[in-house]
Amino acid sequence: MVTRLYTHPIFLEHLTPPGHPERPDRLRAIERVLNDEAFNALDRVTAPQGDEATILYAHPEDFVARVRAAIPESGIASIDADTSASPKSWQAVVTAIGAANAAVDDVFEGSVANAFVAARPPGHHAEKTTAMGFCLFNTAAIAARYAQKKHGAERVAIVDWDVHHGNGTQDIFWDDPSVLYCSTHQMPLYPGTGAKSETGAGNIVNAPLAPQTGSDMFRDALLSRVLPALDNFAPDLIIISAGFDAHHRDPLAEINLSEDDFDWATGQLLERAGRHSGNRLVSLLEGGYDLQGLAFSVAAHVGRLMKG
Ligand SMILES: [Zn+2]
Repeated sequence: MVTRLYTHPIFLEHLTPPGHPERPDRLRAIERVLNDEAFNALDRVTAPQGDEATILYAHPEDFVARVRAAIPESGIASIDADTSASPKSWQAVVTAIGAANAAVDDVFEGSVANAFVAARPPGHHAEKTTAMGFCLFNTAAIAARYAQKKHGAERVAIVDWDVHHGNGTQDIFWDDPSVLYCSTHQMPLYPGTGAKSETGAGNIVNAPLAPQTGSDMFRDALLSRVLPALDNFAPDLIIISAGFDAHHRDPLAEINLSEDDFDWATGQLLERAGRHSGNRLVSLLEGGYDLQGLAFSVAAHVGRLMKG
């Protein structure tokens, strides 16, 4: 059983303004590091085109139409203060969704051990009706609902270790106890949500981390809050919103994790997937803006996924 890696050249064609941290070079850095012979056993697959109808699993039709209408014919259009779209952004985001849903198919069909989707734009800030924070549609949320509708999953857990709170995923599942959303994130930090007191229908577990904390506090948050919640929920599938901007090199935040922490956290979630989810685990790239920190972290994460 292998770890599958989904990529697609279209993900490089979602363009952002010069100097923007969420840039195509992020995926080039990941591609370079995963070209090492240590990753020869990865099952590399070009992402399929997504089914646009699945966007409606997490977003209403008028919002989807609004995003589509905002895609420019040339140049770069502003969607909000830090979120933009270029002519190929629609195809990129639909393909990112296609990759995530295909990864869900893979783990339910048992054809792979687990899967990592190296796509952009990211998704976890996209709320039901708001594109924001570099995100257009919420890929992880769509994949969770896809697992429920297509494969009959009753309970899906999304674990989000991106350094920013996934306000979008929280918004979408706020009153849906069939999805557990667990997040570790720096607080205070963009987007401002993610307090412990935000619990939704009892299905939201926020574990905020103070600026300048690192490995100890992150691991404690997983051990004391996230993993017990997973044990209690017993998901049929674990989706990781895998942002790597809590790395100490990252320019957008002040949490001091190293690639070893992502290796460890991946191992913990694999163990829980084995215990509760028939080993079904899908990991989706979210943030990570220092190219070296991102590359080393993805290498540690994917290397751990390959160990199963
Ligand atoms: Zn982030």
